[in-house]
Amino acid sequence: MTIQHHLGDDLLASYAAGGTDEATGLLVATHLALCPACRTAVAAFEAVGGAIMAGCEPADLNAGAFAALEARLGRAEPGSSVPPASPAPAFAPAALSAAAPAIPQPLRSYLVGPLDRLRWQRVGPGVRRVPLRVGGGATARLLELAPGLKLPRHGHTASELTLVLSGGYSDESGRFARGDVEEATPEDVHRPITDPDGPCLCLVVTTGALRFTGLTARLLQPFIRL
Ligand SMILES: [Zn+2]
Repeated sequence: MTIQHHLGDDLLASYAAGGTDEATGLLVATHLALCPACRTAVAAFEAVGGAIMAGCEPADLNAGAFAALEARLGRAEPGSSVPPASPAPAFAPAALSAAAPAIPQPLRSYLVGPLDRLRWQRVGPGVRRVPLRVGGGATARLLELAPGLKLPRHGHTASELTLVLSGGYSDESGRFARGDVEEATPEDVHRPITDPDGPCLCLVVTTGALRFTGLTARLLQPFIRL
């Protein structure tokens, strides 16, 4: 597997600084599980961030600031050294079947069962999806596209990140296969066509609705809702 399309440095830096929403962070982390090059980049950003923090002058805290922090963390007694309990994950990690090697962690933890037992929603000819439960304003979903499918030409009202998990597709930006990421901005309009030799499974994170440009697709958009 040779990844051709990586995440941008701005997004990797934001992830390293803990600045991404849950859905975007999930996609970044899943790409990192497949991509040594971006893992190296994130480690470098984290090192830079650590060096900057180490070089900062310590600031004085108001009297009582530590006690107030502990109170916000829900500790019964100020001064206690017991750490707060970790919040329960939205989903319990599921035991996926060995037939689903396409799903690396951490994405696997967001699925409630094997791929073939998920609640797939048919959203158009040759297209089905499974929404994932993530917090924040962005949405995340698994999208499976039939082989040789020509999607309607469309743009985006905000940003969309697509990570290919299996199969592949091509559009005006090139060909995308397992591990590749495509970042689409509001300026981008594209018409993806999936590879003919098998379905294409993707993780898609969107921070706004799609904007179809063709008349037929615009009429269908309320019903398609990719
Ligand atoms: Zn990468």
